[in-house]
Amino acid sequence: MPDFDDHEVVHFVSDRSSGLRAIIAVHSTHLGPGAGGARFWHYADPEHAVTDALRLSRGMSFKNAMAGLPLGGGKAVILADAARTKSPDMLAAFGRAIEGLNGRYVTAEDVGMTVADMVAISRETRHVSGLPVQSGAIGGDPGPHTALGVFLGIKAAVLRVLGKDSVAGLHVAIQGVGSVGGGLARLAAADGARLTLGDVDTARANALARELGAQVASADDILAVDADVVSPCALGAILTETGIAALRAPIVAGGANNQLAHARCGALLHDRGILYAPDYVINAGGIINVASEYLGDRDASIVERRIAGIPDRLESIWATSAADGRDPASVADDMARKLIGRS
Ligand code: NAD
Repeated sequence: MPDFDDHEVVHFVSDRSSGLRAIIAVHSTHLGPGAGGARFWHYADPEHAVTDALRLSRGMSFKNAMAGLPLGGGKAVILADAARTKSPDMLAAFGRAIEGLNGRYVTAEDVGMTVADMVAISRETRHVSGLPVQSGAIGGDPGPHTALGVFLGIKAAVLRVLGKDSVAGLHVAIQGVGSVGGGLARLAAADGARLTLGDVDTARANALARELGAQVASADDILAVDADVVSPCALGAILTETGIAALRAPIVAGGANNQLAHARCGALLHDRGILYAPDYVINAGGIINVASEYLGDRDASIVERRIAGIPDRLESIWATSAADGRDPASVADDMARKLIGRS
């Protein structure tokens, strides 16, 4: 399969009595247990599920390594039926499958999985994170931490491209105003940015725009807004050849995973003189928080410190890119590969 990248192990899990069918892909344990969420999704066919698990687990290796975490990369996908039936027995079987890997894979929430699902899984295995926490303790919803990292990354990009040390007075266009994009919008508004928001959920975009005094653009047009920064915080694969040709902002920096539709799209952005913040570097705030929860860190300041390191990591990628002419996405991939012993 083209997305196979010397993954250490790919497990196919089948539990007849609960109907669970899942794939657990561990890309690398070079830096620690393969950590990455579990996705509950209805796939057109099992091959698409394997492809997703292969790509996502490699992405987690890169993300965890670049965030400086003592974690490798893994990801699980649960093959939902068309009705997306999820039962307690299924979650228990999934938990047992993870426990059987003896800590080689650590799970958490991803698309289609909830905090309650993690609690159910935790009855069968210790190797689960993203559990509910008491207020003030490390853990809980990773979204606000991701939003903070993205905001700091945007500020680093603004400093590099526009020579400004805040987003005050700058125009920031945000695609998707959910957990990450909504948090980012509030942080940017508090810093004085002028915002344009776009979301397929127009009621959501309108409500936040009213709260923050922002403009609204249609979900189709938001990436092509004439802004200083465009921040994709919804779907992956939105930076296509045509999407990139339509961009008018000099900076693309957002929280969505897998923004580049193809590897060559990183070079297209670079050729157009647009500064791109590699997604898995700028959006690591959530996994940084999840990792601290799993690793049992007690001092919340370690999460803040690690998130505060995101701008420096981006800056070193951009500096290398500027020095040797390669696009930032390729530079980041090379750095990540080196960190996981695969240069
Ligand atoms: P969310 O579901 O809370 O919000 C996503 C928002 O995007 C929703 O409001 C949705 O209506 C909107 N949306 C969906 N399709 C859209 C489209 N075509 N155009 C415009 N808006 C659209 O999700 P989230 O947790 O904020 O995650 C957003 C992105 O960030 C995802 O790609 C996710 O994988 C990534 N991410 C999230 C985290 C995290 O901590 N939550 C961490 C890393 C990466």
